[in-house]
Amino acid sequence: MLNIVLFGPPGAGKGTQSEKLIEKYGLTHLSTGDLFRKHLGEGTDLGKLAKKYMDEGHLVPDQVVISMVEDKISNTEGSKGFIFDGFPRTTAQAEALDVMLANNGMKISGMIALDVPEEILKERIKERGKTSNRADDQDEEKINTRIKVYLDETLPVAKYYENQGKYKSINGVGGIDEIFMEISEVLDSY
Ligand code: ADP
Repeated sequence: MLNIVLFGPPGAGKGTQSEKLIEKYGLTHLSTGDLFRKHLGEGTDLGKLAKKYMDEGHLVPDQVVISMVEDKISNTEGSKGFIFDGFPRTTAQAEALDVMLANNGMKISGMIALDVPEEILKERIKERGKTSNRADDQDEEKINTRIKVYLDETLPVAKYYENQGKYKSINGVGGIDEIFMEISEVLDSY
């Protein structure tokens, strides 16, 4: 089984690369951002709760995210493995993920981090905001908040996997296919 954490700041291209990876490797995509947006669209209580945080660019509380991921993992059968996209975003989430996977006889194969400079991230998110209909993509201040939250709360997660010898960073600037090839090489080495 291949279980990959695709890591990087907002706008790094995790969603784009995930789509290609699912197609090539037949993995199950688990994007916490997508799951929250689905709840939001369906108007569930979880969606309403998450919206308050998401719209401002803040993180949804760990326990809410962890329960949602646990639910998704235990309700997925016969998977070849998962691509975790946008999760774990805090060290507490990373620790919880290790426990849940171990309980299901699984483990993380590795983390692949997409490295993109801040200025390019901001440009990409603003461009995406023109069509994405996401409140958190539309406003400069919210974009800045998300990047700050990433630096303060999420970046330590890279260290967590580095300490386990599972961290690999890739240049996230360039052609989509070129970046995909580099990610594929790392995956094929697991
Ligand atoms: P991006 O990476 O482009 O910011 P995502 O779709 O991954 O977008 O996440 C959108 C928002 O959803 C985040 O800003 C946050 O509010 C919430 N969210 C997603 N994943 C998590 C998570 N693992 N922990 C806490 N909040 C999350």
